This record gives sequence, structure tokens and C-alpha cells, in this order.
Amino acid sequence: MNKIELEKIKEKALEDHIPIIMDDTLEVISKELAQKKPKRILEIGTAVGYSAICFSEFLEDDGKIDTIERDFERVKEARENIKKAEVQDKINIYEGDAVEILPTLKNIYDVVFIDASKGKYPFFLEEALRMLAPKGIIFADNVLYKGYVMSDYNKHKQRTAVRNLREFLVKLQENEELETEILEVGDGLAIARRK
Ligand code: SAH
Ligand code: MG
Repeated sequence: MNKIELEKIKEKALEDHIPIIMDDTLEVISKELAQKKPKRILEIGTAVGYSAICFSEFLEDDGKIDTIERDFERVKEARENIKKAEVQDKINIYEGDAVEILPTLKNIYDVVFIDASKGKYPFFLEEALRMLAPKGIIFADNVLYKGYVMSDYNKHKQRTAVRNLREFLVKLQENEELETEILEVGDGLAIARRK
């Protein structure tokens, strides 16, 4: 992986106000991936490919990432970035709404990274659990949503997202197949390990 190229992709994404993974969140996930050496990763929310490119470094030989993005311009830029990073043989983009694409997938994944519309997290979780391998790990970004999720202030316009994120966190914690931690890194990171 060309570090300078990756740094350029990151700088441009930040300039364009694309909500790419935060450094501390990436560090936590990278440590887990380095240990796990996954063969298959599913990502929900590609944006311009930054996180997928970062994760691809930790795949086992012949490992693959499937990632889903609904914004056409971002898909285009992600494809260019993935090529620049020379990882096009490791990353496959599904273009479209994850709500429609997920139910069509029939793969098994060692790792699922949920990083798209917060209002859909409960649905994404159901689909992730359907495809998660035994001992698989789900990471979900932005679960504390700037602190809104833990505060009782719920009059702002994002209250549907907040309600759904809370429902998502409750579902994770009530699920007896999972061991869940919620970390205050970045915008809040949930890590759920299937036993
Ligand atoms: N994982 C990326 C950042 C993703 S930002 C990184 O860290 O580099 C979230 C992305 O999810 C946005 O680009 C948005 O267009 C996309 N998105 C949101 N809801 C979606 C949905 N329902 N289906 C597909 N993509 C979605
Ligand atoms: Mg995010």
C-alpha cells in the first residue's frame, strides 16, 4: 500500500467534508483486524473508499471486501481511489441502497463494518447477523452520534436517527450470542463479537 497515496485520499476526503473514519477509530479497528486476519469483510457505507482501502491491508491472502454505497459520485471516486491504491482486486463495490442490496447477499463475513445512515442501523444489524460467521465481529461507527445518543435532549431534528441508534445499541446488548463493547473513540464505536 502506497502511504502517500492513502494520505492524499484522506486529505481530499476531509477537504470535501466526507465523513471518513476518524483516526482513533481506525486505530482500534486496525488492531482487531491485524489479529483476526479476516478473509471476508462487508462494509456498509463506502463513501470514497478510504476505510475499505485501510482495511484491505489486514485481509488474509485472497481476502476480499464487499462494500456498499448509494451515492453515484462517491462510488465513482471510490473506484478511482481503489485503483490508485492498487487494491482493486481486493475491494468490490455494490452500487445502490444497502436496504435493497443487503437482502440479496448470501455470503458469510468474518467482519461487518456498519457506517451508513444511522436511522437504518437496526436493519443493518439484522442483516449483519444473518451473514456473520461464528466468532465474527461487527463494528459500528458513529453510535454515540456527537453525544446525542447518551443525552436526554431529544428535540433536535436528528431525533429519529437517535431513537434508532438507541434501539440498535439495546439490540446489541440484549443479544446473547454477542459480546458487545461501546467505546467512546471518535463518534462512538460499537464492537460486537459473536461467541
Ligand atoms: N466508511 C467510509 C465513510 C462512510 S460515510 C470511510 O470511513 O471512509 C457514509 C456513507 O454511507 C455515505 O457516503 C453515504 O452516501 C452512504 N450511505 C448512507 N446510507 C446508505 C444506504 N442506505 N445505502 C448505501 N449507502 C449509504
Ligand atoms: Mg462513520
